[in-house]
Amino acid sequence: MASVSRLFQLSGTCNNYPWGKKGHQSLAAELCKNTPGTNFTINDDDYYSEMWFGDYPDFPARDLETGQPLAVLLKSNEEKLLGSYSVEKFGKNLPFLPKILSIGKALPLQIHPNKSLAAKLHEKDPEKFSDTNHKPEIAVALSQFELFAGWRDLNQISPMFNIPSLRRFVPEGTNLWNEETLRNVVRELLKADEQTIQKIEEELKQQSLEDIQKLGYPSQTFELLQRLQSQYSATDPGLLIAILCMKFFILEPGEAMFIPADGIHCYLSGDIVECMARSNNMLASGLCPVADRDSADLFSETLKIDSSTQADNLKLPAKAGKDGYTTVYQPPIGEFDVVRVDMPAGKEDSVWNHKGPTLVIAISGEGAILGDGKELAVKPGFIFFIAAATATKLRADTDLQIYAAALR
Ligand SMILES: [Zn+2]
Repeated sequence: MASVSRLFQLSGTCNNYPWGKKGHQSLAAELCKNTPGTNFTINDDDYYSEMWFGDYPDFPARDLETGQPLAVLLKSNEEKLLGSYSVEKFGKNLPFLPKILSIGKALPLQIHPNKSLAAKLHEKDPEKFSDTNHKPEIAVALSQFELFAGWRDLNQISPMFNIPSLRRFVPEGTNLWNEETLRNVVRELLKADEQTIQKIEEELKQQSLEDIQKLGYPSQTFELLQRLQSQYSATDPGLLIAILCMKFFILEPGEAMFIPADGIHCYLSGDIVECMARSNNMLASGLCPVADRDSADLFSETLKIDSSTQADNLKLPAKAGKDGYTTVYQPPIGEFDVVRVDMPAGKEDSVWNHKGPTLVIAISGEGAILGDGKELAVKPGFIFFIAAATATKLRADTDLQIYAAALR
C-alpha cells in the first residue's frame, strides 16, 4: 500500500431522519451532493437531516480517492494521522464527530449521558447505547437557528406552576424551588396522561401573553406551543418541558451554543455545524414517537441541573484569531475546538498546524488547500482530513468560508 498522505479529500454521508429539511432545501444534502465522484442525488420528496463526516461507523467518511473508510486509515496510521497526543489521550479514533444538520422540525427533547452512565447503559444495552463515552456537543448556526436549551431561572418557572392544572406537579410544602423541585416536576410531567397534558395546554393558552412575558417567557410562546403540537402529538409531554422549563433561543449565523453532557436541549429549525465528543448515545423523552421515548425516571435522574446547564450560560463566545480570518469556538472540554475561517478573495495564508487531527468542510466560496506538498481544490461541500502537525495553507479565489473541527 502506498503511504498515506497527510492531507486528503473525504466524502461524507447524508442521512434521512424525518426531522430533516426536504429535498434541495437541505443544506446538508446540498453540501453532500457537491463531493465529486459520488452518486449521491437529491430527491425532492425525501428528507435530508444530517451529513456526518467523521470516522464513526454509522454514516462514515471515506477517502475520496480510494473509497476506504477514514476509520480504517486512522487505525493503520495512527501516529502519522492522529498524532501521539491524540492517540495517548483519546485512542485510535478521532476524538470528535462533526456533522452538518439541516433541521426542518423539532428533534427529540434529549440529553447525552455522561461517561459513567454511558458505560453502564452500554453494558446493559450495547445495541442502543453504542458508546461508553460522553457526548458534550456544540452547535454553530449557519442560518437562523431556533432551539430550546438549558433551564430557565427557577424563579421564572415557579410562578407558571400556579396555573391550576400545573399546581399538582409541585411537591407539597414547596416554598422556594430548588434543583430537586425541577427534577420532580419534569419526571411527573413526563409521566402525566394525555388528558392531563391536554388540560394543561388548554389552560396555558388561556393565559395572557403579557402576563407570561412578564415572567420572562418569549413573545413566541403560544406560536411555539402550537407548532410543537402540530409536529408530533398534541399530548407529547416533551413540549411542555420545553415551553415551561427551558429557554428558547434564536441564534444568528456564527453564534454558537455548548451543551454539556446530561444537558437538556431540543433543536427546532435551521442549518448548523455540530461537533461532539465521539459518541452516539442519546436519551429522549419527548418530541418523538412514543416508542422512541426512554424511561421518564432514567431521563429525569440523569438531567444535569446546575449553573452549567442554566440557559443563560450556554452561549459559547467566539474568539477572533490574530490573523483576522479565523474565529475559534472553544468548548470547556479537551476533545475539540471548532474553527471558522472567513478568507477574502485573493488572499493566501497559513492557517493551521495543529497537534491533533483536523476535519475541514467548505461552506461557501472557492479556492485551494495546500499541505503535504500538494494543492487540492476547495468548493462548497468539499471535506478534507488534515493529519496532526501538518502545516496547511488556504487560498481564497472567491470569498471563502470553511469550518473545521480540530484538536488544537
Ligand atoms: Zn444532541
